[in-house]
Amino acid sequence: AEFTTLDEQVGGADAGEETALAQPVLAVVGRPNVGKSTLVNRILGRREAVVQDVPGVTRDRVAYDALWNGRRFTVVDTGGWEPGATGLQGAVAAQAELAMSTADAVLLVVDATVGATATEEAVARVLRRSDRPVLLAANKVDDERLFAETASLWSLGLGEPYPVSALHGRGSGDLLDAIVTALPEAPRDGERVAGPRRVALVGKPNVGKSSLLNKLSGEERAVVDSVAGTTVDPVDSLVELDGETWRFVDTAGLRKRVQTASGAEYYAALRTRTAIEAAEVAIVLLDASEPLSEQDLRVVSMVVDAGRALVLAFNKWDLVDEDRRHQLAKEIDRGLVRVPWAERVNVSALTGRSVRKLAPALRTALRSWDQRVPTGQLNGWLSELIAATPPPVRGGKQPKVLFATQAGIRPPTLVLFTTGFLEAGYRRFIERKFRERFGFQGSPVRINVRVRE
Ligand code: GDP
Ligand code: GDP
Repeated sequence: AEFTTLDEQVGGADAGEETALAQPVLAVVGRPNVGKSTLVNRILGRREAVVQDVPGVTRDRVAYDALWNGRRFTVVDTGGWEPGATGLQGAVAAQAELAMSTADAVLLVVDATVGATATEEAVARVLRRSDRPVLLAANKVDDERLFAETASLWSLGLGEPYPVSALHGRGSGDLLDAIVTALPEAPRDGERVAGPRRVALVGKPNVGKSSLLNKLSGEERAVVDSVAGTTVDPVDSLVELDGETWRFVDTAGLRKRVQTASGAEYYAALRTRTAIEAAEVAIVLLDASEPLSEQDLRVVSMVVDAGRALVLAFNKWDLVDEDRRHQLAKEIDRGLVRVPWAERVNVSALTGRSVRKLAPALRTALRSWDQRVPTGQLNGWLSELIAATPPPVRGGKQPKVLFATQAGIRPPTLVLFTTGFLEAGYRRFIERKFRERFGFQGSPVRINVRVRE
């Protein structure tokens, strides 16, 4: 069972460099009653409450976040599986097959007081073929007298059995050490560079970028060139807004109003891109007094594709009358369909109107950009959504979404593990519902799909 990775993003952005790696997945398999759920709770340290079962929804698998020695991983509990037509042995073997193809490592749990049954031997045969690491837990070893039983499990050919008591916690530290050693290196949570949050102020020429920057710094009388303990890149400006210092990146050009006679447009686009890359959140300035242009939409797309949080600031609002306001609303509906989630503020750099609303908008957008939905909560919501509206059938097959994790933040990135391709329309539907449930106002959200074939 080979695992193909098909990374796709909602909104048509290319799936290239910014695609976050999924956090590694550990699948727990074994017969009913060997103590899988108890052990999973032990692994989680009960950090995450078990999701309430939704009446009428059968959930194949439940996934949770685990953290051990600073390593994050997802634990998938296959406990809810019912023996199918092939009987218990077939069901557990099928479970092991699926675990092997979706997980980065598999944990087989055996009840040491019972020993290896024919079912375990069948599962072991499947797991021995796995190219993923397989760990063996001998559970219910509540005291020393049971160590002998543990040793007999070497016969399964899966290496050293780890004696544990899921109930009492005995041995679980050693097992967790072995688990994180077996899993691929987890992407560490992108630790932010300390200091003020980084803002790009971008937009086409003449929308009022330098006017706004001057207004923001002038009004607050707080442009600082150095802050104790921080070195300031001279191309950036530190600006105090609403009691907080922000780093406006790459503003040297704005301040000096450098204009190159030839290739000005090329350099402007390059500067825009550089500023966005250096920032965490971008304020895209738009001229509200004029029709939205291709150039405006290109800048917006640059921000989304770079995965940065987004605030749309409609400038020159002092020039906007009733008619223009209606017209602009239509242009927004038509042109900014890709970013219905963006924070929006109507400002005037000239009069200072509403510029103080920028800081709260930046904060909202960054909060969303930093936000993580716990895996248990995510899967509780997702299983309900999918039960109500399953993915469309394609080529006679109904793709199944097995589980999901939020693999990353900045930007928030979901990975859906599926048995088939999910159409773009369905992924957009999931994104829309995800935002309805969890918010994420002001931040792009990426949805990657990992298809098991
Ligand atoms: P699952 O069906 O594999 O998920 O098994 P459960 O986690 O539901 O456990 C089945 C039964 O075994 C429950 O009554 C648990 O309390 C018990 N159990 C689980 N782990 C241990 C253990 O380490 N020692 C003992 N004595 N009982 C355990
Ligand atoms: P930049 O090229 O984006 O830095 O734009 P500038 O800040 O140089 O502004 C371009 C022109 O728009 C200047 O003539 C500004 O005075 C004018 N401008 C900027 N903001 C506003 C505004 O809010 N209202 C009006 N009426 N004019 C503005």
